[in-house]
Amino acid sequence: MAKKKIRVALAGNPNSGKTSIFNALTGAHQKVGNYPGVTVEKRVGYASYNGYELEFVDLPGTYSLNAYSTDEKVARDFLIDFKPDVVINVIDSGNLERNLYLTTQLLELECDIIIDLNMWDEAQRMGIHINTSKLSRLLGAPIVTTIGHRGSGTADLLRAAVDLVENRHLDHRHAPVTYGSHIEDLVVDLTRNIEKCKSCELCPSKRWLAVKLLEGDIKTESKFIRDTNELDKLQKSIRKKVRHVKRATGEDPEVILTDGRYGYISGIMKEVVTHKTGDRMRQSRQIDAILTHRFLGYPIFLFLIWLVFQATFVIGNYPMEWIEYGVSILGSAVDNMLPDGFINDLIVDGAIAGSGSVLVFLPNIMILFLGIAALEDSGYMARAAFLMDRLMHALGLHGKSFIPMIMGFGCNVPAIMATRTLESERDRIMTILLIPLMSCSARLAVYVLFAGAFFGAMAGNVIFAIYLLGIAAAVGIAQILRKTLFRQEVAPFVMELPPYRIPTIKSVVIHMWERASIYLKKIGGIILIASVIIWLLGYIPKPEEYSQDYGTRIENLQLQLERAAASEQEEQQIRQELSDLQAGKSSEEIQFSYIGRIGKGVEPAIEPLGFDWRLGVSLITGFVAKEIVISTLGVLYQIGEEETEESTGLTDALRDPRSNITPLTSLAFMVFVLLYTPCIATILAIKREAGLKIMFLSVAYQLILAWSMAFVVYQGGKLLGFS
Ligand code: GDP
Ligand code: MG
Repeated sequence: MAKKKIRVALAGNPNSGKTSIFNALTGAHQKVGNYPGVTVEKRVGYASYNGYELEFVDLPGTYSLNAYSTDEKVARDFLIDFKPDVVINVIDSGNLERNLYLTTQLLELECDIIIDLNMWDEAQRMGIHINTSKLSRLLGAPIVTTIGHRGSGTADLLRAAVDLVENRHLDHRHAPVTYGSHIEDLVVDLTRNIEKCKSCELCPSKRWLAVKLLEGDIKTESKFIRDTNELDKLQKSIRKKVRHVKRATGEDPEVILTDGRYGYISGIMKEVVTHKTGDRMRQSRQIDAILTHRFLGYPIFLFLIWLVFQATFVIGNYPMEWIEYGVSILGSAVDNMLPDGFINDLIVDGAIAGSGSVLVFLPNIMILFLGIAALEDSGYMARAAFLMDRLMHALGLHGKSFIPMIMGFGCNVPAIMATRTLESERDRIMTILLIPLMSCSARLAVYVLFAGAFFGAMAGNVIFAIYLLGIAAAVGIAQILRKTLFRQEVAPFVMELPPYRIPTIKSVVIHMWERASIYLKKIGGIILIASVIIWLLGYIPKPEEYSQDYGTRIENLQLQLERAAASEQEEQQIRQELSDLQAGKSSEEIQFSYIGRIGKGVEPAIEPLGFDWRLGVSLITGFVAKEIVISTLGVLYQIGEEETEESTGLTDALRDPRSNITPLTSLAFMVFVLLYTPCIATILAIKREAGLKIMFLSVAYQLILAWSMAFVVYQGGKLLGFS
């Protein structure tokens, strides 16, 4: 027997625990974050219960369904167009009043809702008592209490959903939200007009449509009323009503309707909620007094972030050495197993050297994400956003933009998608343009490599400074954008502060593991392929003649060595000569190869920055992804190495005087990597979210910025006498 299907949507405010509930219901892993806007796209999952198959959709978190922001529009269109059988309205029980605002809109849309009083544990701790049976009667909807992150109560949710579909819930009805004397009769009146309108038939609720039309919601109007005749008639009657409201109350209908909703909600609150003053919020408030202090807050924020990067580098160093060692063992093992020749070189110098050089940074990336996830889940990130609100206003943005920007430190792609939570288009585009300056974890690997090679004990601080430079660049660019392309005022917005929570190990670890597996997949896929291609381009074509007869000379020296008998000093001299000859030969070969020619091509452009052709090539391949900068260098420095010499790590190869990289060059290089286009995936995300023009603008300004800043660092450093 085929299972009957039920489609269930999860709707709720950001941070109400929707994603936790969704995961508990469906077992799917997903990002669990502590601020608005982690869920930017619809997620789907499945569960079976009692002969039914339930499909769950995790809608973006929203405070209302006004369709002001992209998220609201996504949620609303889904509810209207797909008409789910059941909508589970996930509510943060500790913030019932604010959460009910969305509920009123769901009720008005005539969705079949189940009220999920989530965070029931928090409400308990805060001493909030909610009379659930009364609330259920008032709203005409079944109520379930849950604790999302522990998965408790989810079986009740499944049962409630099936019950609702089978219509067993006795209290079920569509309770209308009433708006008070000033406007209620107008709503009823308009609803009747709409019921007569043929082209409005598609609309799920006539009363809802009436309210929207009175609010002057043009998007809804054009969505449902296609017939111009009917539209004209309705508009005439609406204008009359609006005029009437304004005359009677001095306010727009929109304001009266919003007030009406709040009135309705405070009525409910009075009926069902009793408080025992708990100390949970007081505790949070006390912590906030310090962490969001007007002066202390900033150094504390900087310190915490600094701590994360320090840990990333210092702790990450140990497993890094083990992996490096493992990779070199693997390389020699394969080298010994396969006969010398093309295939051997391809695998050892191309595939293993390239992918291995990136694999080394896996621990650093994992620690970084561990840190970010812990800061997010504890509730601190929301404080940081609050703290930054004032600074962000100085940039012509507000605190809400700070969250996608902080996410950018992890990965720019989800960060750019997270800008959908911003209500104004202007803020959204500006934030999208700034996000690439937030140094993502892929770039971190480059800094760890170079700072580790050239700055010794200062490496952690150098990396921290690079991140700060990214932020400073964002500040500068924001100022420029504000004075040129984006002159409008900042839209006002209320920042909300969820209570502090101890992050659960599970959620932090899941998040870290997700990131690690993405990184590993990249290494096994695109990075591996790129390494092999780069190696090949460095292998062919071979020069037909060399500046001298290396072959014979090398052979002669080797014969001399075998005959030995020479004194130790002589032997050393011969070895040195041999090594120089071999280096000379491979250097001629690589300069003749395709990659050498590409390198020569870009050399004039990067010479003023102090970069040699190898660094140049790695910057070009780095357009694909920043890890490829490293794998490219891993391959390029492997090719240059002679067979006899023991294979050394990339760090040593970079430090070798023959590589011509100084601390100053490496600093300029890190600055360039920080500032230029992060990767193809980011470019595509920008195109998707902001269009082609913004995409080109973004790529162009970053290239210019990266080049000029690297120039300033290198030439400035030289003038000051650094090397
Ligand atoms: P969403 O933004 O609505 O998707 O919310 P999330 O599912 O991402 O949850 C936000 C935070 O609340 C996470 O840190 C969860 O671990 C936590 N959380 C979720 N449900 C509960 C709950 O019932 N009780 C408590 N104390 N925390 C919860
Ligand atoms: Mg979510």
